[in-house]
Amino acid sequence: MFERHIDDVGPDMTRRTFLAGSVIAGIQDAAPEFRPATLDLRDPLRTAIECVVNRMDPAMNFQPWFAIDVVNGRPAKLRHDTWDFGDTSGRFLEALILARQMVEPPREAIVAEERIRHFLDSLFDSSGLVHNPMLKQPDHMFAQGSALYALVTDFEQWRDSSVRVRVENFIAALNRAAKQESDYLWFPQVATAKGACPHQAAYQILPAVRFYELTGYAPALRFAARLSRWPLYHDDTVLPSGAITKTGWEGHLHAWMDTFSGILRCSRAGGPNLDHQEVYERARRVFEWVKSTYTSPFGWVADSVGAKTCETDTITSAIRLALELIKEGHTEYWNDIERFVRNQLIENQFVDVDRLELTDPNLIRGIRGSFESWADPNTLLAVKNADIEGCCINGGIRGLFLASQNAIHETSQLTQVNLLISAITPSLEVASYLPFEGRVDLYPSNSKHIRVRTPDWLDSNKVRVSGPSGLKTEGEASGVYLKNVRPGVPIVLRFEQNSSERQHLVAGRTYQALWKGDTVLRLLPLGSPYPIFQRKMLNHSNPQSKPKDLSPITQKVHW
Ligand SMILES: [Zn+2]
Repeated sequence: MFERHIDDVGPDMTRRTFLAGSVIAGIQDAAPEFRPATLDLRDPLRTAIECVVNRMDPAMNFQPWFAIDVVNGRPAKLRHDTWDFGDTSGRFLEALILARQMVEPPREAIVAEERIRHFLDSLFDSSGLVHNPMLKQPDHMFAQGSALYALVTDFEQWRDSSVRVRVENFIAALNRAAKQESDYLWFPQVATAKGACPHQAAYQILPAVRFYELTGYAPALRFAARLSRWPLYHDDTVLPSGAITKTGWEGHLHAWMDTFSGILRCSRAGGPNLDHQEVYERARRVFEWVKSTYTSPFGWVADSVGAKTCETDTITSAIRLALELIKEGHTEYWNDIERFVRNQLIENQFVDVDRLELTDPNLIRGIRGSFESWADPNTLLAVKNADIEGCCINGGIRGLFLASQNAIHETSQLTQVNLLISAITPSLEVASYLPFEGRVDLYPSNSKHIRVRTPDWLDSNKVRVSGPSGLKTEGEASGVYLKNVRPGVPIVLRFEQNSSERQHLVAGRTYQALWKGDTVLRLLPLGSPYPIFQRKMLNHSNPQSKPKDLSPITQKVHW
């Protein structure tokens, strides 16, 4: 039994660990294994899936409701909108497929996936673009981008040749709709009175590059590279310093950060006429600029330059850009991702809808599980007359998916634990006790070396490790390296989490946060009308336990 090899199990030797050990040793096959009941990204995911299912209108061929109107700080009604089409239906299809990478889909989700796929398919017109029946013209280029994300995700999941053809035709149609210049292309359609808004179309770059990565379809890479050169060299919104010079829609941080993720991915894939080193530098400066001006350490990211509220999509775009920069060697950005996911991303979800005292069951179902589009650090529904937008349900699911998929990274030699949240891959299960206890349990299923990232507030030499006899531990800069791992024999890491009270200035207001490690336990002042960071239950020194519920799922989609 593994307890023999763990020298400091001591006071934690509860029934929970005893049973877990017994099962590993094969003594009590029937006994359940227990795990700490800490942050499990599948919980918010499941609620979000339900919300997607409930935000499709059976009376309208399952057209999504993009919006829930908020009037005087209260959700009032589900509303159809011009963003229902390529954007919301694309996002819903993508979200339901991303969710499959984390949980077995419930039957309603499988049915909803088929319905929304049909709805999106029905929107393509003879030109190969998504048509917007409400506007009676081709859909907005940003919405075309969301549809492209959906189709590329759908193709990667199912490898259906007809979807592949549809994506090829779609990219060809987008290329035809663009204005072609000698060294770039651009879309006059996205301009507003205040600016050319290249980011609203350049949001298409990332899915086009992903399609190239999956298929080698060269026109997709050419299209992406020529589109990349528009915001980089033929528009002055984003300065070489990384500063974004326009406010509002023209400075929409969700689209700008996804644009730079796409451009970076495009130059990495060898997109023609892009200097990878230069692109990487510019993308890094954009991230640093957004982080230093419009982001709080707990993951509140302003909707746009100058905005006072946070749209969930933008948190996810920051996570995505951080992940692309991590691939360039900036592993320090794991710290940001860990803090964003543990805090504002999770808090931005409407979970306890009862407190809104609504009566319309369709409205209640449409809100529960959605993610806010106008959040203050301490409250949702921060803008009295606004809406809860369908895009952000996708934004929340994308964020959960990106965190979940990247929490553990495996190569043939090494299993790398990047985020200290509970997660599982074929090689390793991570059971995290954070923030209750500074403890992370590893359950390896093979003998690959393991590297566990240590957060920026923790000296890796102060991590106490216990595991099988012969286990070799090396403290590295920002990580602990473990060799002589034995399959089936758990390893326990223990460390102190520092607690601190910190002040954060967000959108001109000061907030007082009590941090424990990377988790905010309390945020003051309390907000209204939908206060968040209500986290008294995290203020204990031991988590509750729950039966193990981590079956690895074959992940077919990668972003
Ligand atoms: Zn949104």
